[in-house]
Amino acid sequence: MREIEKLIETWDGLAVLTEFDRPTGTWIFVCIHDNTLGPSTGGTRIACYDSPADGLRDAMRLSEGMTQKWAAVNLGFGGAKAVLAVPHPMEGAEREGLLERYAGMINLLGGNFLTGEDMGITSADMEFMARHTDHLHGYDVDGKKVDPSPYTARGVLTAIETALEQKFGVRSLGGRRVVVQGAGNVGGHLVRMLTEAGAEVSVTDVDNDRARSVASECGARLINSNEDVYSIDCDVFAPCAVGAILNRETIPRLNCSIVAGSANNQLDTAEDVESLRARDILYAPDYIVNAGGAISFAYLGQGISDPAELMARVDSIGTNLAEILQEAAERNESSLAAAERRVARTLEGARDRG
Ligand code: NAD
Repeated sequence: MREIEKLIETWDGLAVLTEFDRPTGTWIFVCIHDNTLGPSTGGTRIACYDSPADGLRDAMRLSEGMTQKWAAVNLGFGGAKAVLAVPHPMEGAEREGLLERYAGMINLLGGNFLTGEDMGITSADMEFMARHTDHLHGYDVDGKKVDPSPYTARGVLTAIETALEQKFGVRSLGGRRVVVQGAGNVGGHLVRMLTEAGAEVSVTDVDNDRARSVASECGARLINSNEDVYSIDCDVFAPCAVGAILNRETIPRLNCSIVAGSANNQLDTAEDVESLRARDILYAPDYIVNAGGAISFAYLGQGISDPAELMARVDSIGTNLAEILQEAAERNESSLAAAERRVARTLEGARDRG
């Protein structure tokens, strides 16, 4: 318990709402990081952790990441995230009971916290939650839940094109070699978009069948399970699976010019961005690249439901990234430092305006 106290004492966010769900033995943490730009908004993750403190730590880190993501796009939302740290995977009535009580907790916040899906939450969970709370986001004008993944993938595609332009002076993906790590919701769409744009794509997934089916559907190469994905010679490495994959072991092995992908928290430590710079590898900051789902949800909230229109809005990620890369080049600093300054400028500007 002391560890939880320490985490809360040292956190710079606004509030942590905590509940122990006795019937299921689940620790629920809603971490509200910031509301400068609007209602604090972020997904809900359901996962098993080694300890409740690990769940809280994850929620805090993800919540702060949401503040950065929302401020970078400046669309009127603040950062938050919730974690349901379950003691074991749950199905049926046990799961629904937990979700119903969690929805009641969200209602207590009266619209100051809006949530949607994150890892471990299914679309059936979201449908069930919608029966118990109005404070969800990501619905079209007909009340249908929208899948953020194609929009996230489109944002990654645009970011890759922008990074190619910056690095090689040519935006086109024709003939460019791209390695995609993770053939899940985002990775699957991204592989299709990349191959359609003429790139030579290689794809891998710990679930080999998933990668194989995406590769054969899209005409991509399936990376052999004994290949080292990090050392494959390519123009772009696109991490679309898990975090912390850019670290002191993998960065020296990278054989690419650009890293741009959807995975959250790709850098193991903040210093890793300097190791990428030292190797002249352009790193497109993850929370800038993977904001497509967030952007589409913000516009859905304004009543825009047309997928083509939403896709066009997501393309603003290219402009945002180009500005960040230009500022980083002018100041001779990392792309991450420039992205963080952009976030700070937006938040400070809004606070000054009161
Ligand atoms: P997903 O669970 O659908 O897909 C992830 C895939 O990665 C799975 O197929 C899994 O088997 C695979 N995987 C896990 N570890 C791996 C490893 N070490 N190497 C190769 N493959 C591995 O998730 P998703 O929705 O596609 O999201 C992918 C990433 O993008 C996550 O980090 C997520 O947080 C982030 N993200 C997603 C969205 C979205 O709209 N879905 C938005 C922003 C950020």
